[in-house]
Amino acid sequence: MAIPSSFCKRPESNPVPTPNTQVCLASYPKGAVRPDNFFLRQVDVPTPGPGEVLVRNIYLSCDPYMRGRMSGGAGYAAGFALDQPIPARVVGEVVDSRQADFSVGDLVWDFLRWENYTLVRDVSNLRKIDPALGPISHAISVLGMPGKTAEVGMLEIGKVQRGETVFVSAASGAVGSVAGQLARAAGARVVGSAGSADKVAHCLEKLGFDAMFSYREEPVGIALDKLCPDGIDVYFDNVGGETLDAVLARLKPFARIPVCGMISQYDGGTYALRNVGNMVARRATMRGFIIYDHMQDFAAFPARMADRMRRSEVRYFDDIVEGIEHTPEAFIGMLKGNNIGKRLVCAGDDPTR
Ligand code: NDP
Repeated sequence: MAIPSSFCKRPESNPVPTPNTQVCLASYPKGAVRPDNFFLRQVDVPTPGPGEVLVRNIYLSCDPYMRGRMSGGAGYAAGFALDQPIPARVVGEVVDSRQADFSVGDLVWDFLRWENYTLVRDVSNLRKIDPALGPISHAISVLGMPGKTAEVGMLEIGKVQRGETVFVSAASGAVGSVAGQLARAAGARVVGSAGSADKVAHCLEKLGFDAMFSYREEPVGIALDKLCPDGIDVYFDNVGGETLDAVLARLKPFARIPVCGMISQYDGGTYALRNVGNMVARRATMRGFIIYDHMQDFAAFPARMADRMRRSEVRYFDDIVEGIEHTPEAFIGMLKGNNIGKRLVCAGDDPTR
């Protein structure tokens, strides 16, 4: 699989767009998401009123959970509305402010929308970014929700210990890449799976995984028998389905499975697990979690993760697609696996690069 050309590269200069392009949901996908589930429209750039802030959006997040919100019903988060710009985490720059706490030029992140400019009426969740911590895109990747998800899943729920064997699926992705490196830093031996030879090489050469395999080239059970011959202590599950079932058959006593996601089933369908019974014999724990329940200490998280990166315990890669008009393909591509690291869209010039 080809690595996207924008991978890890500085986006070309992206002139300030006028008017405001919005990426909206046209219809709820049935099965795989298609480009025609979205449409672009152009509207005027809004003007802030008293207490409001106008943000020029620079990086737009593409996250797997957004697929669930495109279903029309409510999952653990409410469904997206049709004909509206899609809500997402965004990094941006304040370009107009009628609010005393924010000035023009402030770099910020918040839950905004897939559009070039967002009028922020309620600034209570608008957070300033400290560029000293790293690239500003990291505020919604390794120093944001995906990084925190990896920390909670691997350290709090997985309770990884020195000397243990850890397996991480979707290992080259936004969450999995951090989960694996945190386990290594804790002294575990870390095995990962991913969907291509490029991703396997990336995890081995750039992220320090001890062993990797491509689940597209080798059945998961056979690969795990080879790479984890004594079984698995912690499985960080990002994909569910067949992979989870193969792990359930290969648990060590008192194994832990933080269930982070089930991306193999997000387009519909179910998978009947056959090996759950082994959890009894192995006295294993499987626990699902949603990161929103673990955000109480989030304020301290970016600096803590940035410290880990300074110590080279964690390396991180944002996978940036240029141009807001490419957001639908960028999102669909992420669901299909053509991202390495955190999939973002660059919607406008990043003044720090
Ligand atoms: P990633 O950056 O890992 O991107 C998604 C990856 O999923 C793709 O690159 C692809 O990688 C993999 N994938 C897609 N389809 C399949 C499939 N059928 N079988 C196996 N792998 C597949 O995304 P994130 O790191 O943001 O998210 C990873 C998981 O974590 C998701 O399940 C997501 O929903 C979950 N999550 C959960 C949170 C929580 O609070 N519980 C918070 C954030 C994320 P490949 O090429 O390797 O197949």
